[in-house]
Amino acid sequence: MSNTIISILDKRFKLSIPNETILEKVRALANKINADYEGKNPVMICILNGAFMFAADLVKCLTFQPEILFAKFASYDGMESTGKVKELIGINTDLSGRDVIIVEDIVDTGLTMFNILPKFEALGTKSVRICTFLQKPEKLEVDLKVDYVAMNIPNDFIVGYGLDYNGMGRNYKDIYSVVDN
Ligand code: 5GP
Repeated sequence: MSNTIISILDKRFKLSIPNETILEKVRALANKINADYEGKNPVMICILNGAFMFAADLVKCLTFQPEILFAKFASYDGMESTGKVKELIGINTDLSGRDVIIVEDIVDTGLTMFNILPKFEALGTKSVRICTFLQKPEKLEVDLKVDYVAMNIPNDFIVGYGLDYNGMGRNYKDIYSVVDN
């Protein structure tokens, strides 16, 4: 996995963010979250599938005790373009009165988070914050407050560290960006 160019299906990707940098950024972000939530007991919700690797590294750096849940969204057809989410799957815990931190892999247009936030607020949560590993600030299309961002990146399509290309590439510990579109 040390190659700087990898092939996944029909595309080639080049090394963009090595794992050492990723872990430094995760630790720096965890320090901010630790300062904000010291002595509190928030619920951290890892959004599947893409955020599993980020969430695993992040929670190891926390100095408070969160409750850790996993959620997935059923989407309408064409979720990629509209971000419309139909249903929250996997939250059987009562979130009323709880501080919630949503842990996401990447905020691109912001539509997914924009549509997910009201679903959590409707559950009577005390607070809901968004924590994402990556954000593509130039692509943001909605008025979305992203509370915690580990890294801002350009608009390139990326894979690795939990992120996939047609279901593949999630297992890479580094992040790669597409070479040929
Ligand atoms: P948004 O609704 O913010 O436009 O998109 C969020 C979702 O799109 C992410 O959770 C992720 O699944 C997917 N996504 C956005 N950009 C990328 C990317 O560069 N690579 C991959 N693999 N997925 C992406």
